[in-house]
Amino acid sequence: MATSLLRVPPPQGLLRPLAVPERLLLGPGPSNVPPRILAAGGRQLLGHMHPEVLQVMDEIKAGIQYAFQTQNPLTLAISGTGHCAMEAALLNLLEHGDTVLVAVNGMWGQRAADIARRLGMLGTAGQHRWASPGDGHLPLCFMQGLVRHKPSVLFITHGESSTGVLQPLEGLGKLCHRHGCLLLVDAVASLGGAPIFMDQQEIDVLYSGSQKVLNAPPGSAPISFSKQAREKMLRRKTKTPSFYLDMGWLANYWGCDGEPRRYHHTAPINSFFSLREGLAMLAELGLESSWERHRANCAQLCKGLRDLGLELFVKEEKARLPTITTVRVPEGYDWKDIVAFLMDNHAIEITGGLGPSVGKVLRIGLMGCNSTSGNVDRVLRALRDALRCCRRSRL
Ligand code: PMP
Repeated sequence: MATSLLRVPPPQGLLRPLAVPERLLLGPGPSNVPPRILAAGGRQLLGHMHPEVLQVMDEIKAGIQYAFQTQNPLTLAISGTGHCAMEAALLNLLEHGDTVLVAVNGMWGQRAADIARRLGMLGTAGQHRWASPGDGHLPLCFMQGLVRHKPSVLFITHGESSTGVLQPLEGLGKLCHRHGCLLLVDAVASLGGAPIFMDQQEIDVLYSGSQKVLNAPPGSAPISFSKQAREKMLRRKTKTPSFYLDMGWLANYWGCDGEPRRYHHTAPINSFFSLREGLAMLAELGLESSWERHRANCAQLCKGLRDLGLELFVKEEKARLPTITTVRVPEGYDWKDIVAFLMDNHAIEITGGLGPSVGKVLRIGLMGCNSTSGNVDRVLRALRDALRCCRRSRL
């Protein structure tokens, strides 16, 4: 018998069946995937340039245009997660000599500032406070930042999943355009859960993710570019520093440039099937019903949390992100104990804080099909149980 040349044996873990327990995912994402979307992702593959796949891509494009409320022809899904869309937006919009102004109101502004800094194009990562919607005043720092730094792009996060704050955008697009600046908005955590109107609000680049309200697995990220954003990209003197995320190539692959489609990369076809179904479910429900569903269940959750004696992290109701609720870690408890208790005893995921909110809050997500009154009752019951069992005599 020939002696084997293999020195690395087959890993024992891979010789056991895949283990995926049932869990209710009520953290800040991903959320549970309903059977229809799961089934779509499990369909047999087709070639990535087959007409049926190109048709699915066209339907995704139309679904994103609906979800974003935009008519932009340059609308597609990035083959990657929300971060990938964030990088795609910044890499394609900016080139040497540009300045980006980043509004930092939590973790996602910090991340955008990090990416911009790596590109060597950060104007300032100005901290800004949330302004009341409808009060007619945008934070003064926006105005000052636009005047002082003359940025080409202003980045802002609509739904700050690290703090649970919803950022009003009214008037911001107009203000940016008056100063010759493009408005770039992250709606990963808010899309489908809170109103956003890309065209009416004059947003130039908007992106989101698949795994939150859209209830698809992570791995594809809707993005759209306005005419002005597209023109800025066409004026580039240098090539986009990433081939994979080059919007010229992606526009062609997604049939947005009127040219015959050329191979760019092998798209994650099954992720696109799932995303298509997530967008279809949103279209069937209707954006307004979806916003109302998230509003109502978030309100029920907030009332229940208060009834448990807990303190909401975001004081003003209008400033609360309807998809992710932040609640202060109560005195006498360690957030890690509560999170672990819910997982071990109730098979529910909630999480602690992120970035600036680490150690201060618990985050509870109710997104898409997970946003139900029944799930609110379930997580409140589990929390009541945790508050009874997890108190530490001395921290
Ligand atoms: N932006 C926001 C507001 C988010 O909540 C997230 C994900 N938590 C991201 C960006 C990044 O998305 P992903 O994890 O899919 O890369």
